[in-house]
Amino acid sequence: MKVSEKPEKASQGGSTKDSKSKVPSKASSHVQHMSKREVIKKFPVKANLEDYATTYAAFSWESARSELAYFAGGKINAAYNAVDRHMNDGRRNKVALYSVDSNNNLEKLTFQDLYYLSNQMSNALQSLGVEKGDRVFFFLPRIPELYVTTIAIAKVGAVAGPLFSAFGPDALCDRLQDSQARVIVTTPALKPKLDEIRDQLPDLEHVIVVGGSQHSLKATAGELSYEELLEGASQYFECTQMDPEDPLYLLYTSGTTGKPKGVVHVHNDIIGHHMTSKWVLDLREDDIYWCTADPGWVTGTVYGIFGPWSLGTSVVTYEGRFDAVDWYELIDRLRVTVWYTAPTALRMLMKAGDEVVFEHSLQSLRHILSVGEPLNPEVVRWGMKVFGLPIHDNWWQTETGMQLIANLPCLPVKPGSMGKPLPGIQASVVDDHGVELAPGQLGRLVVRPGWPAMLRTIWKNQPKFDEYFRIPGWYFSGDNAWKDEEGYFWFVGRADDVINTAGHRVGPFEVESALIEHPAVAEAGVIGKPDKERGEIIKAFIVLNKGVNAGEELIEEIKEFTKKQLAAHAYPREIEIRDSLPKTRSGKIMRRLLKAWELGLPTGDTSSLEEE
Ligand code: ATP
Ligand code: MG
Repeated sequence: MKVSEKPEKASQGGSTKDSKSKVPSKASSHVQHMSKREVIKKFPVKANLEDYATTYAAFSWESARSELAYFAGGKINAAYNAVDRHMNDGRRNKVALYSVDSNNNLEKLTFQDLYYLSNQMSNALQSLGVEKGDRVFFFLPRIPELYVTTIAIAKVGAVAGPLFSAFGPDALCDRLQDSQARVIVTTPALKPKLDEIRDQLPDLEHVIVVGGSQHSLKATAGELSYEELLEGASQYFECTQMDPEDPLYLLYTSGTTGKPKGVVHVHNDIIGHHMTSKWVLDLREDDIYWCTADPGWVTGTVYGIFGPWSLGTSVVTYEGRFDAVDWYELIDRLRVTVWYTAPTALRMLMKAGDEVVFEHSLQSLRHILSVGEPLNPEVVRWGMKVFGLPIHDNWWQTETGMQLIANLPCLPVKPGSMGKPLPGIQASVVDDHGVELAPGQLGRLVVRPGWPAMLRTIWKNQPKFDEYFRIPGWYFSGDNAWKDEEGYFWFVGRADDVINTAGHRVGPFEVESALIEHPAVAEAGVIGKPDKERGEIIKAFIVLNKGVNAGEELIEEIKEFTKKQLAAHAYPREIEIRDSLPKTRSGKIMRRLLKAWELGLPTGDTSSLEEE
């Protein structure tokens, strides 16, 4: 089937030829209260990946190995690559982490600081009996100790398990029980949630508390002070030399489509982290890079820790919650150059209005990226208007362990498209039997197995792992997409979310994107609702922008508006206004919940549901 609307090509991509002459002088660039950035910025220098076609044709993952540090006998450690090797490559005193806490206090850690602190933590973990393969989890806010702990776990050869700090006791219990974690690192503020479930965790031996006063710790419950442990530990640690296929971390998926899966990744993933951080994030020596994702999710772990540090890049972390003014202030304060965020955050920034953008300079920004959900074309166009930069969407999953499809800086951005497969990645769109489909045809998004960061297994769930390979010769992503004549991939929806209406297949994303183009609509979630006549009809749930008056008239107007943009069968016949949409804690719209609520069906696993 042909997709109902073929979105247009961006006219002013970050790498279009004519934009060079428009680069502003510093003095004139920050004009307050303008309605639009006056210029579209150009990449200041050539992109790290300059020539897509040539690199794609010539690249092999084998050749990328030379950029990483291996021990004798082909052994490797991802943490050695992220931190230790910078002790001897001139970056020892470079800031590795700019950590801004929720009171806006800034702490800086150099690669040397990280090296010594993580060595101490590795020694401490070993002194507790932690061995290669043991699961060590952390339940921490975005504070420096989270980063030290992650690196330390990997150095020991244990398996790191991130837990998002906003998890409630149930979400915590599911993951700690499933993984049989031996140790957890947390804070006094978060510990009460753990205390609630402690008696259900027979495998959990030690609870290391960061910033806990000694007298509050219960030795009988295995509670220990992080600071005391480190104080007594040596600053020297021999990084464990791992087999490239040894587990590095166990990451739980977002739970958007069902119960979160425990995805096992290995030390060799670092090759993929390194190359994609170089090509997609386009990181350079002098960049200040901010990834807004929490390390409780794959993006925050891979592109908030291992990828950028493997390149020796300075990383920013911000403990505070989302707030448009705070975010823009942080970018200006630290002069962030590369910014990796998500569609939900960008839609919220858009909702906060243009004025607040223009009250900030934001001139340090040179590259903006987005991941996690489809990025609506409207948001890309808004980004061009207010930041003067195209937002580069890219596609990957917890299971893929690294970015696979991306809008690379060297290619024009087509708003609404995820971009092209990276060098070393063969992606395609196939039917249910694995037969490749022609451009423009909607089908299953699949990838040839064998890239370095591909999942190695689903923790204690081999049948689930096997499901990813049910189409012979392919890794099956569970997403639906189509490819255009130029090889760009366009996301349609998760396979489960695609709507079948009067014989047409419609992806929720295109309908949602059309809805949010209406000035009254801030967010939209679209589902298929069973209908006798049409099989399914399209129902949309929308959240309105501030100050908009809801009413039947507005709903009719929005329907008419979307009718003009979508194929006749693809407009939402029902629209319901809501105060908010159900989202995962990582900020993804949970369409399955909208559907369950609408149809009065069981809601399934809601451990990932964000609290209102
Ligand atoms: P679960 O697997 O538990 O249901 P999840 O799929 O949301 O949750 P993640 O691994 O965090 O867990 O997310 C990967 C999914 O996010 C992709 O399969 C895709 O549906 C969506 N996604 C990620 N990036 C993009 C993107 N650029 N455009 C569209 N969708 C994206
Ligand atoms: Mg998934």
